[in-house]
Amino acid sequence: MAPLESKNSPLAAPACRDEATPTLRRPVTSLWGVGAERAAQLARLDLHTIEDLLLHRPRRYEDRRHSRAIAELTRDEAATARGTIVAQGLKCFRGGAKSVFEFVLDDGTARLHCRWWNLPFLEKYFAVGDEVFVFGRLIETRPRTMDHPETEVIEGGGESFIHVNRIVPIYPLTEGLPQRWLRGLIWRTLEKFELEMVEPKPGPDLKTFPSRANAVRMIHFPEELADVEIARRRLALDEFVALQCEIQLRRKNFETRSRALPCCGDNRFMKPFLARLGYKLTRAQTNVLREIRSGMGAAHPMRRLLQGDVGSGKTVVAACTALMALESGFNAALMAPTEILAEQHFRNFQKWFEPLGVKVELQTGSRKTTSDERRVTSDAKSRAPLPVTLFIGTHALLTSGFDLPRLGLVIIDEQHKFGVTQREQLVRKGNYPHLLVMTATPIPRTLGLTLYGDLDVSVIDEMPSGRGRVKTFVRSAVKLPKVWEFIRDKITAGRQAYVVYPRVEEQDTASDIKAVTRELENVRRSLAPFHVGLLHGRLTSREKEDALAAFRANRIQALVATALIEVGLDVPNATVMLIENAERFGLAQLHQLRGRIGRGATESFCILISGARTDEARQRLQVLEDTTDGFRIAEMDLKLRGPGELLGQKQSGLPQFRFGSLTEDLDLIRRARELVAPPRVVSEKI
Ligand code: ADP
Ligand code: MG
Repeated sequence: MAPLESKNSPLAAPACRDEATPTLRRPVTSLWGVGAERAAQLARLDLHTIEDLLLHRPRRYEDRRHSRAIAELTRDEAATARGTIVAQGLKCFRGGAKSVFEFVLDDGTARLHCRWWNLPFLEKYFAVGDEVFVFGRLIETRPRTMDHPETEVIEGGGESFIHVNRIVPIYPLTEGLPQRWLRGLIWRTLEKFELEMVEPKPGPDLKTFPSRANAVRMIHFPEELADVEIARRRLALDEFVALQCEIQLRRKNFETRSRALPCCGDNRFMKPFLARLGYKLTRAQTNVLREIRSGMGAAHPMRRLLQGDVGSGKTVVAACTALMALESGFNAALMAPTEILAEQHFRNFQKWFEPLGVKVELQTGSRKTTSDERRVTSDAKSRAPLPVTLFIGTHALLTSGFDLPRLGLVIIDEQHKFGVTQREQLVRKGNYPHLLVMTATPIPRTLGLTLYGDLDVSVIDEMPSGRGRVKTFVRSAVKLPKVWEFIRDKITAGRQAYVVYPRVEEQDTASDIKAVTRELENVRRSLAPFHVGLLHGRLTSREKEDALAAFRANRIQALVATALIEVGLDVPNATVMLIENAERFGLAQLHQLRGRIGRGATESFCILISGARTDEARQRLQVLEDTTDGFRIAEMDLKLRGPGELLGQKQSGLPQFRFGSLTEDLDLIRRARELVAPPRVVSEKI
């Protein structure tokens, strides 16, 4: 992706206007019929202003032009019927502790029993003779019965035409707020304020989209059901435009405020580093480094997202990037999401960098150099030229009191494990250092263009050669004895294995740990006489390090672990992974886990044990058997589980949309970008 604007022209995009006029920002209490009590109920739905009300999205629609004859209702499908209450009553039992309220509805074709359990006060809301809409699905056919259907009593009066004989919006409600009242309020608000919904700037071509005002009307009171999607798309587009404007503005502010530190280096570390590396960089790695080098020498600080599937070799790219800054006389910082990954990086970078005369320092929760010590050392050395330093750490790098002097570059590994705020915090440590964030969960395009819209993107789209394939199998638990036999064979042949238990939490809970510890005994029995180790989040740093060191040195042949090992671990001799209860992980996460194997030249095997009872869950896992394409897997995960799950709970920067969908609306997101940024400077690679 090219920069959002060309570097030497002023921002060519039209300025984005805040859409809400003062009238639309007025509180709901300014509307007739909304007192303190109703306002409090609306506030619970996060509806505070007139605009909020106009943008309150119906949950579903009922086509009340054609209700279903009661005689034609089925068990298979929820439908709307309409009839008159011919009988009703409340039955109490167990001494009044339990109750069922029931009414019988007749529409001339048949009778329908509607029941509500333990809601005795409903008796007050209905009366024999009332005409009622009910929406639901039969649970019995003899007699025809619905439990807890949605209902609405039909009343005469001035506005009755908005509730019957048309497609009617059904809104999300909160306790005490009647559907009919809210619909009436929204109708009246529309009548009065619809035209305040003016076209935002930039707005789309009105030949292809309805006007905003029209769309708002259509989303509430569509003439046809197809209008709903037309309206939704228009309103979604406006949301994406607003977001892109924000992204542009953020970027523009950033670029006017910041001056880049010259960090493109002179190759004096890079040359010997690459010569000693032991392998050649792939074409993709070289290309990406070229992009990064030009970013590190540009007028504005680099803000780049490096995407590459798990195992594509991002660490060495990070190393080369760090060297560019270090060659230029600046320090660099590398932040990893877990201590064990930080330790691993520390070990590698020490080996790589210390021969070059670069200091490497580790700063994690358990290993710290305090700022006092630092001040002493840097003061002591201030007369001599300071050696350049690479700081490696976890989020402990962010803790106050620890400052990173002469910071030229910040690299964040496994960026999706950190929130946007943490990223900003680290960058603020320095004087606009360059920023490289790396992510191994490939980011579906919709997210790339929104969540990461203000970053340039480089993609490593090639794996290092000489990798053994990873074969994936989904098996049910009954196959476990065979699977253990298979793993024993592989270990006998000199390989090592991971055994993963589903602990999805960041911090494993005590009962989880008990479960993993119990499993450890089982695994030890299954794999005796081989040595089996244990790794989880509750161990001390020392214990974690010891377990990993033993595994790296092949003193233990199998490692029983939680999802903690998901990020970054690199032990090429481990070629087998068994994941129990795999259905409890997301697909992208399983792909990450699987990325721990297939790092050496031998063929690797990932066995997913599915405890899933449904075919659907098993089919979902099947995707991993079929493909190793991380992008496809991430897209699928986004569809199945939504962006929050895909990106992890910590991803706080995720925008909330009323109408837009990050799984469906790629075309709209693209269009929004074109509207906001002139197309000639927008090229997307992601
Ligand atoms: P990830 O992108 O998942 O962070 P790593 O950086 O851990 O991947 O790299 C995975 C493995 O590939 C490491 O063992 C690394 O030494 C190796 N590797 C990286 N680049 C190359 C290359 N160009 N040729 C051969 N092996 C490579
Ligand atoms: Mg990595």
